[in-house]
Amino acid sequence: MTPLQMVDTKTQYLKIKKEIDAAVIGVMESSQFIGGKVVTDFAENLAAYHDNKHCIPCANGTDALQIAMMALGLQPGDEVITPSFTYIATVEVAALLHIKPVFVEVDPKTFCIDPVAVEKAITPKTKAIIPVHLYGHAADMEAIMDIASRHNLYVIEDNAQGIGNDYTFSNGTTKKTGTIGHIGCTSFYPSKNLGAYGDGGAMFTDDDGLAEKMRMIASHGQSKRYYHDVVGCNSRLDAMQAAILDIKLQHLDEYIGARRKAADFYDQAFAGNEKITVPFRAANQQHVFHQYTLLLNGADRDALSAFLAANDVPSMIYYPVPAHRQKMFDSFGSSAYILPVTDDLTTRVISLPIHTELDNEQQQFIVNKVLEFIKK
Ligand SMILES: *Cc1c(COP(=O)(O)O)cnc(C)c1O
Repeated sequence: MTPLQMVDTKTQYLKIKKEIDAAVIGVMESSQFIGGKVVTDFAENLAAYHDNKHCIPCANGTDALQIAMMALGLQPGDEVITPSFTYIATVEVAALLHIKPVFVEVDPKTFCIDPVAVEKAITPKTKAIIPVHLYGHAADMEAIMDIASRHNLYVIEDNAQGIGNDYTFSNGTTKKTGTIGHIGCTSFYPSKNLGAYGDGGAMFTDDDGLAEKMRMIASHGQSKRYYHDVVGCNSRLDAMQAAILDIKLQHLDEYIGARRKAADFYDQAFAGNEKITVPFRAANQQHVFHQYTLLLNGADRDALSAFLAANDVPSMIYYPVPAHRQKMFDSFGSSAYILPVTDDLTTRVISLPIHTELDNEQQQFIVNKVLEFIKK
């Protein structure tokens, strides 16, 4: 059996090696390392995949979130409502801009931001809601967009884990996550569902004005070369990553299919086990399984993780410490938050290997080891 890994980017690469190698060499031969046609072609192709007007590439997903907040004109003292159960990048950039992250609960089934909690947390200072499509399952965007329009708030989707998820509204329209809010942000970190061979990220919007602002901010605030209209930053997707991503984009749906198939295998193997809750899948979307995360009922999560490790089965805890308990937010008084669902999840979730290259033999081995421990 091939040794197990949380993600297997090497085997995935070997299957498209010829195309990737040629694309990388093409960039080197062109000597156009920054900007240029390769980057704009990829941005256009990714916008088309999303059926969205503008895709603005940048250096990473964290920058994408920061640039989105800057483009929306959020000011020091403004508040943004976010889940505490997320990767730190979602909220860190708010703090960096002196915007107050207001942490709310997640839905205990989907692990995504709870719309009821969002509405309760709105104050006169609230400017935006930042839902995170955690593990690849979309937040309840229909409810969130409704709250945002009633309270005149912006929505920035953190779609770093959700790229490619098709979300259907009750009126029958379907949109890709990342194109529902005013701005969507994603990451091309290598382990993400559309992963580069280095860092990368992008913002999405249908709004021409916001697109222009984000383009400027990502490029030192310049409207034309050496004319700097606003304070910005330097955040670029380099041409080599764009060339690689453009090839991988052609395989994205196939990659998502492979992840969903692996998730189905796990779901079936764990079905009916009362100590294991398999990932929830809302009927109005296509979970893209960036992670396959079990919720344990009564089993010792950390002991399971250690048992798996002893059997060469990797597993991960996303995330052991929620944002409101991170030291970095002490000055925001965040330890005073009472978020029992979030706290409970951090002690009970465990993510198993899921990627495009998993085979049945590997998955059966993982399942057997999990069940062996659970039965003890
Ligand atoms: C990966 C990730 C980010 C940040 O992306 P980087 O490209 O690593 O900066 C932000 N939010 C979430 C939920 C992520 O998973």
